[in-house]
Amino acid sequence: MKNNDWYLRDSEEDFGEALHRRTEELYSIPDTQPDEDGLIECPVLPLRDLVVFPHMVSPVFLSQEAAILAVEEAQLNDQTVIALTLLDADVEEPGPQDFLPVGVETAVGRLLSMPDGSNSALVQGRRRVEVVEFVQLEPFLIVRARPVYETAEVDRETDATMRTALEMFQRCVQLDRSLPEEAYLFALNIKEPGWLGDMIITAIAPPLQNRQDLLLVLDPMERLKQVISLLAKEADVLELEDEIHTRAQSEVDRTQREFYLREQMKVIQTELGDSDPWAREVLELHNRVEHANLPEEAQLRALKEVDRLAQMPPMSPEVGIVRTYVEWILDLPWAAATEDNLDVRNAAVVLDRDHFGLPRAKERILEYIAVRSLNPKRLRQPILCFIGPPGTGKTSLGRSIAEALGRKFVRLSLGGVRDEAEIRGHRRTYIGALPGRILQTMRRAGTLNPLFMLDEIDKLGQDFRGDPAAALLEVLDPEQNNSFSDHYLELSYDLSKVMFITTANTTGTIPPALLDRMEVIEFPGYIEEEKLQIANRFLVPRQLEENGLQPEEITITDQAILRAIREYTYEAGVRNLERELGKICRKVARRKAEGKRFATRITAAYVERFLGPPQFFNQEADRQNEVGVATAVAWTENGGEIMPVEVLLVEGKGNMQITGQIGNVMQESAQAALSYLKSRARSLEIDADIFDQVDIHIHIPEGAIPKDGPSAGITMATALTSAFTGREVNCNVGMTGEITLRGRVLPVGGVREKVLAAHRAGIRTVLLPKRNVKDLIDLPKRARSELNIVPVEHMDQVLEVALVTQEKKTRVPRSRRKDNQEVAMEATSKPPTDPATIQPGV
Ligand code: ADP
Repeated sequence: MKNNDWYLRDSEEDFGEALHRRTEELYSIPDTQPDEDGLIECPVLPLRDLVVFPHMVSPVFLSQEAAILAVEEAQLNDQTVIALTLLDADVEEPGPQDFLPVGVETAVGRLLSMPDGSNSALVQGRRRVEVVEFVQLEPFLIVRARPVYETAEVDRETDATMRTALEMFQRCVQLDRSLPEEAYLFALNIKEPGWLGDMIITAIAPPLQNRQDLLLVLDPMERLKQVISLLAKEADVLELEDEIHTRAQSEVDRTQREFYLREQMKVIQTELGDSDPWAREVLELHNRVEHANLPEEAQLRALKEVDRLAQMPPMSPEVGIVRTYVEWILDLPWAAATEDNLDVRNAAVVLDRDHFGLPRAKERILEYIAVRSLNPKRLRQPILCFIGPPGTGKTSLGRSIAEALGRKFVRLSLGGVRDEAEIRGHRRTYIGALPGRILQTMRRAGTLNPLFMLDEIDKLGQDFRGDPAAALLEVLDPEQNNSFSDHYLELSYDLSKVMFITTANTTGTIPPALLDRMEVIEFPGYIEEEKLQIANRFLVPRQLEENGLQPEEITITDQAILRAIREYTYEAGVRNLERELGKICRKVARRKAEGKRFATRITAAYVERFLGPPQFFNQEADRQNEVGVATAVAWTENGGEIMPVEVLLVEGKGNMQITGQIGNVMQESAQAALSYLKSRARSLEIDADIFDQVDIHIHIPEGAIPKDGPSAGITMATALTSAFTGREVNCNVGMTGEITLRGRVLPVGGVREKVLAAHRAGIRTVLLPKRNVKDLIDLPKRARSELNIVPVEHMDQVLEVALVTQEKKTRVPRSRRKDNQEVAMEATSKPPTDPATIQPGV
C-alpha cells in the first residue's frame, strides 16, 4: 500500500479548517532543548510497521496503552516525543532492545478517538536522533538521545545528485497513478538533500525494511544516493506494470471488437431476414470489411457505415454514397507492401540498362539504397526533386528506380492543380465527393510503399479555394505524413512508407517551403552526340519492339538519326526525337504488315520520305552578321533558346520602345543598357546629340513566349552599340549577362542550359559572366571542346568580341546589308568620325 498521506491528508477529517488548525497546533510545539551534554530527554512513541521521517507529517494510530500515556505526558509539558520503530512489529511489551537505535524527534497533535476504540493523531517529524539510554521503562518509555544536525549546504555534487533524484522521482510520479502530481512540485521546492531524500521515501513508501534502513543512514548525501537507486528500481517496476496494463487493455479492446462484430451481424440478420437479397448484400459487405485486415480505426468506421446501410431502404439515394465510401476504405492499401530490394549492384545494373548518362541522379539513388541496406529502419525517406527540361529522362529514371527497388510506380501530375480539395478531397457532404488525388493514386498503387512521382510541382497553382501547396507540405513532411488526413476519408492515412520523387522544369516557381523539403537533382539537356547515343541504344530498339519489328531486320543509320535530330526536332531532351523515330518505325511496320517490300536500312534520305518536309532548318546557314542585331542565349523551361535582340533607330525625340512580350525587369535592363551606352558615347565615338534625335525600338522576336529577367542586359547593350555605331555584330557569338550602369557584367542563372542551347544552334562563341564559368563543370566534354567560352567582366570585353572588326565587315556583301535597320541608320545617324564605318549611301 502506498502511503498517500505523506503531506496533509487525514482520512477521518476533511481537508480544511480542522486540518489546518491541527497542523498549526503541531507546528507550534517547540523542539526539546538539549541539556549540557547535548542530549534531549523525551517520552517514546513506539511505532509498529511505521517509520516517521523528519519534516514529514503523517497520521499514526495509537492502540497501546504505553503509547497513549507517552503522548499525553508530552502534551502535558508541551513537549516533543521520540518516535522509535520496533524492529519486530509483533512484540507485545517492547523493551529497549526491541527498537531501532535511531529515532525521530516528533511533535504529536491532538489525539482523536476512533470508532474501534483506538486513537489517531497527526505527527510531524523534526529531526533524527541517536538513542543514548533508556531512562524509564514503566508505565511508558523515556529515552535520552542525541539530535543529528544535518548540513543544509549545497555544493555542485549535491546539486547534481538532487537533480538526478528529482528527475527520477518525476518519472515515477508520471507512471504511478497513485502518486499525486503535487508530490513532485513539493519535492521540487526542497532545498536540502537530506530532506529531499526523506520526502521521497515517505512518498513512494518502499517496504518497511527499506524505510528502516534509510532511517539509519545519517549522512544526507549517502541517504539521497540510496534513494536514487531505490527510485530506479521503482521506475522499472512501474514501467513493467504500465506495459502489462496496456497489453491487457488492447486485449480487452480486441474482444470487445469481436463481440461488436458478431452483434452487428445478428442485428442485420434479424432485421432483414436471411433471404432478403439486400440483407445478403449488406452482409457480404460486412464480411468483406471484417476480413479485410484493416487498421482498427478504419474497420470500426467501415462497420459503422455498413450498419447505417443495413438500416436504409435499398432504394435510398444515400445507399450509393455510403457504399462508395465503404468501398474506398476497402480498396485503399492499408497494410499491403512490397519488400525493398536493397541490392546495390542489382540497382546499378537496372539503372544503367535503361539510361544513358545521368551520373548524378544514378549515384544519389545508389547511395540511398546502400545506406538503406546498412540501416534499414532508421533512414528517413529523402524527397528527391528532379529538375530539367522535358524529355531528359526524369520520369523514366523514376520508373527504373522503382523497378530496382521492387516498388510499385505511380505518377500524379500537379500541373494546374489550384484547389486544396484536389489534393485532399471533398467532404462527404458534397454530392459526388471523392478522396483527393493523393489517395486516388495510392489506391492505384495498391501498396503502402510505392515510388510516388509528383510531376510538375513547379506548375502548382493557388487561388481562393485554398492553397494546394500547404496540403502537399503535409504530404511530404516525414513528421506529419504518417497520418495524412483526407477530407473525404476522414481517417488518418499513413504515407510515411511512400518514396516521393517530384519533378519540375524549374525551381523558380516551386513554393519555397516545398523546395526546402527536397533534394534537387538536375537533369541537363543533351547535346547532339548524347542524343545520338540515346537513340541508338534505347529509343530505336524500343520503338522497333513496340512496332513489332525485329532489331535484326531494320537499321537506322546515324546519319538518319542526326537528320531527325537536326531537322525534325528542336529540343533539350529526346521526347520528340523518340516520337519521330516511332513514326519512322510505324511506316516500315505498316509496309511489312501489308506484305510489301520494306526498307531495312533507313538512311537520311528515307527520313524526309517518312517524316515529310523538314520542320527546322539549319540555323547556322541562315545567320549573318548584321547591324543592330545581337544574339542572346536565353533560358526557358524547355531548355535553352537562342534569341535575337533587334534594335532599330528611327527619327524621333529620344524615346525608347520595347516589344516582344517583355517583362518589367527586362525593360529596366534595357534602360540600364542605354544609360551605359550614353555614358560611353565619347569613347565609342558616337555623337552625343544623336540620342535626342532618334527613337529607339528594341524588339525581341521568337514566338510569343513571355520573356523577362535581367540576363539579356549585355545583349541589348551590344545591339544598341551596334545600331549607334553602325558596326555589325558577329552572328556566331551568343551571350548572356546582366549589365550595370557602369558596364559591369553580373552573373545570371540557367547557364548550362543556355550554353547547351547555343551549342545546339551551332553558335560556337559564348560570352558568359566570369562568375558563371563555374556552372559549366558538368558540361559534356564534346560540347566543351567545340565551344569557345569567353568569360567577361565588363561590357568593353563583350563589345570587343561581339562587334565585327572592320576588315571582316567589308567582306559582307552589299546586297545583304540593305535591310531596314541600315536604311533607318542611314537616315538618322550622323556619320561616325571613322571614315571606314561610314554607311554606304551616306
Ligand atoms: P521527362 O520526364 O524528363 O520529361 P521522360 O522520362 O518522359 O522525360 O523521357 C522521354 C523519353 O526519353 C523516355 O522514353 C526516356 O526513356 C527517354 N530518355 C530520356 N533520357 C534518357 C537517357 N538518358 N537514357 C535513355 N533514355 C532516355
